Amino acid sequence: MQKHIVIIGSGVAGLAAAVRLGAAGHKVTVVEANDYVGGKLTAKMIGRYRFDLGPSVFTMPHLIEELTKISKQDVKFDYVILDKICNYFYEDGTTLSAYPDKEKFATEVQNKLNETKESVYEQLKYSATAYDLIGELFMEQSLHKLTNFLNLKTAKAIINIGKLKLNKTMNEVNSARFKNKKTVQLFNRFATYNGSNPFQAPALINIISHLEHNIGAFAPKGGMHDITMHLYNLSVNLGVEYKMNSRALQIKTENDIATSVVTNNGEIKADIVVSDVDIKHLYTKLLDKKYYPTKIMEQEKSLSGLIFYWGIKKEFKELSLHNILFSNNGEAEFNSFFKEKKPYNDPSIYINITSKVTPTDAPEGCENWFVMVNVPHNESGQPVTYIEEMRKNIVAKINRILKTDIEQYIEIEEHLDPYLIEQRTSSAGGSLYGNSSNNKYAAFLRHANNSSKIKNMYFCGGSVHPGGGIPLGLLSAKIVSEMIAEKQ
Ligand SMILES: Cc1cc2nc3c(=O)[nH]c(=O)nc-3n(C[C@H](O)[C@H](O)[C@H](O)COP(=O)(O)OP(=O)(O)OC[C@H]3O[C@@H](n4cnc5c(N)ncnc54)[C@H](O)[C@@H]3O)c2cc1C
Repeated sequence: MQKHIVIIGSGVAGLAAAVRLGAAGHKVTVVEANDYVGGKLTAKMIGRYRFDLGPSVFTMPHLIEELTKISKQDVKFDYVILDKICNYFYEDGTTLSAYPDKEKFATEVQNKLNETKESVYEQLKYSATAYDLIGELFMEQSLHKLTNFLNLKTAKAIINIGKLKLNKTMNEVNSARFKNKKTVQLFNRFATYNGSNPFQAPALINIISHLEHNIGAFAPKGGMHDITMHLYNLSVNLGVEYKMNSRALQIKTENDIATSVVTNNGEIKADIVVSDVDIKHLYTKLLDKKYYPTKIMEQEKSLSGLIFYWGIKKEFKELSLHNILFSNNGEAEFNSFFKEKKPYNDPSIYINITSKVTPTDAPEGCENWFVMVNVPHNESGQPVTYIEEMRKNIVAKINRILKTDIEQYIEIEEHLDPYLIEQRTSSAGGSLYGNSSNNKYAAFLRHANNSSKIKNMYFCGGSVHPGGGIPLGLLSAKIVSEMIAEKQ
């Protein structure tokens, strides 16, 4: 039966939910506070350069293709398969490239970091096994429905539980496997893909490296923002209506049933409400406080980021699409984020250059640099004060490692920080991925995709199950649409 479904927020999960629910024949209205769709997954021209402002790593393209398929539209989402995952740089001059080709990558790690090839194969096998055993169980269905676990998949996971090393942290497993700290740092860094600390996060978080190293690394041909526009176009063609500049101010309930969404542009009656906004914003600003889920709200937030967008008047041949300049002390870096709750003065720097794949993103002979360091989420609610200091640290490190004087090549510049991220998307403290995964219970302490207290109220996006990042956001929308279909 057709329902009127109001989705609050047009982040990637809200857009995916709009496609799925529109394709299922519902009348769908999306209310979005900004004058653009996509939330964190947005882009901008700055001078002569195009920048993706948020996500830059694209994995699991089949999740986008699935949305194209269910929308039954004859359009293609264009992306390339990368033959190099990332270039890594260390302070002592060591450099290496990671390739999706396992033999090539293992040889590189053997030659540059003095590990055995077998140790690399073992690591990749471990992440693949973990993914096979628990990926579907933990990421593609609700964790809050017992019957989802009464099946052969669960039995297989339980039988093989020893292989998962549930009581170890990521760093413990990776340190036991590799003798060189640099290799450990390389594999530990995947914890940041969901904003976590490898020295606390369970070893299972190693499944993230499986996505790039075993399944593959990809890049949308027109940049990450193509994902947003593709999903938006699919949904509009399915009849989904977007109300831009419409901030939801309240979700009204009657007898614990969601009945309407009040926005700055009026009230919209709804049979079903789907929230794609950060769970903290939702419970503190939009819902009656009697619904506040205290325990879930107490969970630690994930990392945020400080990003500089630089138009660079030079080409750097030693850089590729993805590049990391590692901190000299990985453990001190994560202690700074999660214990001292402050940025680290020798940060690992991520440089993303989409003009390496899409040359039109920068003028000829130039490059569009997205330069990001992790920083803690911002608890103060006030603008952050470390931008200039961190910029100096970043410039100095880039100069040291790339043996350059980068300032002279910066033609244009803008930045993004945790405060601005919160202002633009309502994410608590500007965290990039909702809650961190810094303990083994984190998955169970993420908010479910439906409400146990409010009928007809559902949740998708990075702050709820199964977690942050584009693939998981897309999966949250899938779970929500399946839950809604089940109730019809
Ligand atoms: C700098 C950066 C780098 C990242 N890197 C990666 C990466 O490489 N790969 C990856 O997979 N992920 C990455 N992420 C994380 C990824 O962007 C997010 O997990 C994902 O985009 C979140 O999508 P979402 O659906 O939860 O919504 P969001 O993107 O958080 O959007 C929420 C939307 O809701 C709207 N909204 C909020 N409150 C209201 C309201 N009251 N009424 C109406 N609308 C409202 C906001 O305006 C916004 O449009 C990165 C994020 C950032 C910021």
